[in-house]
Parts: sequence; C-alpha cells; structure tokens
Amino acid sequence: MPVNPADLIAGDELIPCVACDLECIVDQCHPLMDWMYQLAIVEHTEE
Ligand code: SF4
Repeated sequence: MPVNPADLIAGDELIPCVACDLECIVDQCHPLMDWMYQLAIVEHTEE
C-alpha cells in the first residue's frame, strides 16, 4: 500500500528509517525512539 508522506514526518523531522544504514533492531533503535517521542510531542501540541 502507498504510504502517506505526512505519516513519515514528526514536526519537521523525517522518520530516521529513510536512508538509514544502521543494523536494524527496531525495538532497540534510539533514532526511532527519539523520532516517536518527537511525534508524540507534536501530536500533543496540536491538540
Ligand atoms: S528502525 Fe532504526 S535501525 Fe531500523 S531502519 Fe529505522 S532508523 Fe534504521
């Protein structure tokens, strides 16, 4: 399924998985955790 580009952005930060060259262990990924934290802040701010 096509992805909505808006779902890949938190505030002005693009999800770190784009162009990522780390060894991927999703549930231990600090860049992704930081991005999700940013997303939660943005969504909370927009409420
Ligand atoms: S979850 Fe982390 S390691 Fe995996 S692709 Fe995304 S940013 Fe890279």
